[in-house]
Amino acid sequence: MVLNPTIVRQHNSTTLMELRVKRHPMAPPAVPPPSNPRLLARIIETMNFHELTSSPENDRYRKVIYDEQHPMVDGPVAAVRTDLGLPADAAQEIKRRAHALGADLVGITAVMHEHVYDDRRVPLPHAIVVGMAMDHPATVSAPAPGAGIEITRVYMQLGWVVVRLAAQIRELGYDAIAHHPRGDRLCDSELLFIPHAIAAGFGQLGRHGTMLTPRFGPRVRLGIVSTALPLAHDRPIDPGFDWFCQRCDRCVRSCPGDAISRQKVEDRGALRWIVNHDACLPWFVKYDGCGLCISECVLNLPTVDQTERMSARIGAARDRWAQRRGPEGSRRPAAPPQEAYSVPRA
Ligand code: SF4
Ligand code: SF4
Repeated sequence: MVLNPTIVRQHNSTTLMELRVKRHPMAPPAVPPPSNPRLLARIIETMNFHELTSSPENDRYRKVIYDEQHPMVDGPVAAVRTDLGLPADAAQEIKRRAHALGADLVGITAVMHEHVYDDRRVPLPHAIVVGMAMDHPATVSAPAPGAGIEITRVYMQLGWVVVRLAAQIRELGYDAIAHHPRGDRLCDSELLFIPHAIAAGFGQLGRHGTMLTPRFGPRVRLGIVSTALPLAHDRPIDPGFDWFCQRCDRCVRSCPGDAISRQKVEDRGALRWIVNHDACLPWFVKYDGCGLCISECVLNLPTVDQTERMSARIGAARDRWAQRRGPEGSRRPAAPPQEAYSVPRA
């Protein structure tokens, strides 16, 4: 986005006032405006657009999700079971069907009860995780309304994938429940999608709290179908993104709420990247998704080819770094190669 300094100057005081007074009733206490002037300017410029929550496109997508898809997340199971062969064969068939329905990524893992919400239950053992890529130009326009509308559009398209896949599995005679990517008070998800997607081999957690994938970077939305159909499971992958995120802080510098941590922190027994949700939420609510951290992510590249090349470079740089480092404790870790930092941008 090209910033217009005149608009920034004209709207600066109005915007800061607006940030203080026009906040969502559910938002926590105000956070200071972003310290990064470039980002502040970008946000000010987008504030001239209408609020996302009143967008007719968004309303149309949400109506489909709430009125047509949510009632389909569960349903009757056929009395007669169709044999899909061994779990590996069944997994292949389910992946084929999910791709035919429109999924860009499909992986299978066990339902992880430590990642099911405390007051919920997922009674079925296998999780079919599906992912769908968001459009790159819309994603990089965040926090303009187009980015949030694209998120809702993908939630709707992916919603059809999970409800139709679950329906197909029930027709085969096996229990299946769709866990919709976009919930509401009546139909909210029971489990966390990202840990399941990582276990199913989609990618690794990025510093900004969103999963990074080798094909689409962070531009992926997720849904799950849990099922009793016996399926072979996939394995997690290590493309080097976790290593890279420890050496990159572009999303930290992009965040208007200073919500992204510079260090991993101990969380439920593991060291992880954590986003401060209290700091993020006012911005998230204001822009119906914000998304600057995804927009600015080094791995958010326009095409699959570019993203795969960047992923391969990161993996190779990590491998060279590991080789130079030698046996554990032999010497101080070497600095990562410079090419890991030279980031092509669209
Ligand atoms: S979505 Fe939240 S974490 Fe990401 S840039 Fe916006 S405020 Fe920061
Ligand atoms: S911007 Fe850099 S640190 Fe942040 S998630 Fe992307 S690659 Fe990781």
